[in-house]
Amino acid sequence: MTDLRGLYQEIILDHYKAKLHSGLRQPYDAEACQVNPSCGDEIRLRLSVAGDQVRDVSYEAVGCSISQASTSVMADLVIGQPVGRALALSDGFQQMLEGQGRVELDEAVYGDAIAFLGVAQFPGRVKCAWLGWAALRDAVARCGRPLDAADPFVVSDPDFDTTVAPIPERPERRPPVERTAPR
Ligand code: ZN
Repeated sequence: MTDLRGLYQEIILDHYKAKLHSGLRQPYDAEACQVNPSCGDEIRLRLSVAGDQVRDVSYEAVGCSISQASTSVMADLVIGQPVGRALALSDGFQQMLEGQGRVELDEAVYGDAIAFLGVAQFPGRVKCAWLGWAALRDAVARCGRPLDAADPFVVSDPDFDTTVAPIPERPERRPPVERTAPR
């Protein structure tokens, strides 16, 4: 796990040092601003939509490395995707962040976004990693698209049922109780 943690930190640092798709661009269909007062992170995000597709996500962000790296990863992941899929990706990412390390993402789908798994262990940083995604969802809503338009999306989740909320401390799968014969 130590090696993996180091790799994840490296991915986050790489995105922080060279943010993908950063800067505010024209044209755009909706703009959203999000603030994370607990850390001082701020983002202004612009969304451009063409038909059903995310044409562009551009942004200006200040704040910690996690918030900026997460926004960089998010923009790279959703640009060119159908809006419904972008929302579904955000659903999965949110489930992972709230999963306290029990919910993992499919690397084939999420790419560098899996690096934020470690953040899920630190509730104080979850908002940092969520900020850019929150701005994306806000911008989609401002485009007049219902947030529930997302297609169902599978998060790789071998051991944990994400539909259960709040998350139990230790989910246990007990074998069914064998009924004794009536006396
Ligand atoms: Zn932060």
